[in-house]
Order: sequence, then structure tokens, then C-alpha cells
Amino acid sequence: MKWCSKHQGEAMDGEKCPQCAEESKPVPFNFEQIDDSHQRAKVFGGWLVKSFENVYHAEMTDHHSGGEGWDWRVAMAFVPDPKHEWEIEK
Ligand SMILES: [Zn+2]
Repeated sequence: MKWCSKHQGEAMDGEKCPQCAEESKPVPFNFEQIDDSHQRAKVFGGWLVKSFENVYHAEMTDHHSGGEGWDWRVAMAFVPDPKHEWEIEK
């Protein structure tokens, strides 16, 4: 198996290395954790930010739902950032 220099193998001429082929596959939303309730995904022209909120539903505690009354509420927002300069502070 030949890999490119980027992936620390033999230089490729023409044919793509398996790793590059893997990376070039469309991964539309690869979410990255920002904090406990936010995730972001790099998209063209900016970021897609997903916000989670843990919501309690008293009406869902009955035996029909099988749940404990909690669920995640998710909201999405687009943050324009063409150069992807937004760094997550750790
Ligand atoms: Zn490669």
C-alpha cells in the first residue's frame, strides 16, 4: 500500500493514497465540542453551531413514553466566518 508524504509513506504519482481518499470523502457535518451544550461544524463560509438544552417534560414521565422526562432540545445557527478564524478557547 502506497501512502503520500503527508501520510508518511511513499510519494504518490497520480494515484491517491488511501488516507487522502478517505479524507476527501464528503463529511458534511463533523461536529466538534465547544462546551457542554454547544458543538460546531465547519461548513463553507463559516460554522454551523448546534446548541443543546436539556429540557424537562413533566408530561413525559408517564409509563407510555418510557422516558424519565428529560430530552435534548437542539437549535442550529449559522455563524459566518469565511476564513474559519474562530478558535475554541480551552
Ligand atoms: Zn495522503
